[in-house]
Amino acid sequence: PRQFFVGGNFKMNGTIESIKGIVKHLNEAKCDSNTEVVISPPALYLLLTREHLRPGIEVAAQNVFDKPNGAFTGEISVEQLKDSNITWTLLGHSERRTILQESDDFVARKTKTAIDGGVGVILCCGETLEQREANKTTEVVVNQLASVAKVVKDWSKIVIAYEPIWAIGTGKVATTEQAQEVHAAIRSWIGKELGNEAAEKTRIIYGGSVSEKNCRDLAKENDIDGFLVGGASLKPAFVDIINARA
Ligand code: 13P
Repeated sequence: PRQFFVGGNFKMNGTIESIKGIVKHLNEAKCDSNTEVVISPPALYLLLTREHLRPGIEVAAQNVFDKPNGAFTGEISVEQLKDSNITWTLLGHSERRTILQESDDFVARKTKTAIDGGVGVILCCGETLEQREANKTTEVVVNQLASVAKVVKDWSKIVIAYEPIWAIGTGKVATTEQAQEVHAAIRSWIGKELGNEAAEKTRIIYGGSVSEKNCRDLAKENDIDGFLVGGASLKPAFVDIINARA
């Protein structure tokens, strides 16, 4: 069985005070010990978060660069994350793909750099509403993942986050059937591309308007192995999502 995985993506939200508050709440909460929990504050607060957060909960960057060091103003390296005990990074979030215009290839290169350097990757993929309505969901998602599979063969430290763009921050969550269908398609693609063992073991988590209200039903689906939570990860109810399978 795959270990349930819940990530909290704070995006560009929070202050020293509010993030300390979230960390304190998590430190004191009763979290299902079967759930792997990773929180992802803005880069500026990674060290603060790591310093205050209890062991057993990991911290993720929201992005990392694909070069080891040097003249890359504004970027952060994999070595710097490791130096700071930041063991995961998000990559390929739709907000970066669309607003920052990151290409599939750039996401793939960064994923390779992180994996080669020993930092886990929460690799995001997902379709727009237009693509879904044109029946292109599987094609879009598989293409995003295939760019990574071209350069990364070992997916044991990759968690795939399926985040339909129309569900992000909209309050419009995918139905359990819609999510399960895409997760199953991703798993079958992994089987073909990377083998049955990888298909069995890779966690595929869902993101997009996950809340304490809808998480339990989604968590019952066979191929939904956890969540990537945006807005609700800033609230006390995040703990209910961590405990969705408890
Ligand atoms: P919301 O949970 O706010 O919809 O955001 C989802 C997301 O983008 C997580 O990465």
